[in-house]
Amino acid sequence: MRDSGVNMRKQTIIVAVGCLAAVGAVAVTARHFIIGHTPAQTEADARGARTELTTGAIDARWPKPGAEPAATPAPAVQPVATTPPAVEKRTVVAKPACNNPNALGVSRTIQLDTTGGPGLGMSQYRDYDFLQPGEVVLTFDDGPWPVSTPAVLAALSAQCVQAVFFPIGKHSTWHPDILKQVIAAGHSVGSHTWSHQNLATKTPQEARDEIEKGISAVSMMAGTPIAPFFRFPQLRQTADLKAYLAERNITAFSIDIDSEDFRIHKPDVLVTSVMTKLKKAGKGIILMHDLHKWSAAALPEILAQLKAGGYKVVFIKPKEMLTTMPQYDAMVTAAQPQKTSSNAKPIASIMQNVD
Ligand SMILES: [Zn+2]
Repeated sequence: MRDSGVNMRKQTIIVAVGCLAAVGAVAVTARHFIIGHTPAQTEADARGARTELTTGAIDARWPKPGAEPAATPAPAVQPVATTPPAVEKRTVVAKPACNNPNALGVSRTIQLDTTGGPGLGMSQYRDYDFLQPGEVVLTFDDGPWPVSTPAVLAALSAQCVQAVFFPIGKHSTWHPDILKQVIAAGHSVGSHTWSHQNLATKTPQEARDEIEKGISAVSMMAGTPIAPFFRFPQLRQTADLKAYLAERNITAFSIDIDSEDFRIHKPDVLVTSVMTKLKKAGKGIILMHDLHKWSAAALPEILAQLKAGGYKVVFIKPKEMLTTMPQYDAMVTAAQPQKTSSNAKPIASIMQNVD
């Protein structure tokens, strides 16, 4: 093994701590943040981390536009404005009315001060054990996506619950109208990088570019500042990047309960998986993906079983919204396809081959 004897002893201690905390499955990653590895060690560990705490292989699970099966065709990609919408003004969303007297509902709403970048999610960050027994936070990654994201929104609305979304920057540029639906429904919207790279394998500058470009893209496509909430793709981070988020006053959300919907594609199996893990953990931040239609299909039953089981949904919203960095706004703008002017005529209507 590559670890020195000292590190092996540390590892043994930390794995024991992880088991005591009933998060044995994630103890290998949790140890990074308990024992204060150096950045170099943490990066090396992150690269070699086991897949148990990841959200799956990126390329295999990240469909491209038009790759949906014929039964659920992806709507045409929306045209994107070539100039960014103003983001100075925050969209104020009133709390949605609840027309279902038997809804699960939100039991409490937390306003989070992200100054200094406090991490949430006990699998990686152990400073803030903020949930009471039976409380859950619902989180959805990798959207916005046609069909599945609107279906997730409908399921949440039907039970009058609110969640935290972590959209991908590129996806947001492809489907800004769906992103706006998430904003309009009053959910918290953070970000999840520009193109869902494993940041632990990137140079520090490349990783920061991915983070900031993602923030700019989601903010610009939302048309309003977003929450200073961030989730690392595959939960792969480095100590340097966590420190960078702290400088930017951005909270990293880890997880407590991985639905594993990247590999479990049958909605009924997914429901059982989530509820079994939740029963064992007793509470926690639940990770799902609004990218997947099977996750959207499973959500109504998961919410019904949460209510039947007496679980409480906690909603987290930010105290302050996040300011983008202009140079990254410009990069996102430059990455958009240039539109022709609206009064341009078809070429054939103005040009004829005459000779
Ligand atoms: Zn993801």
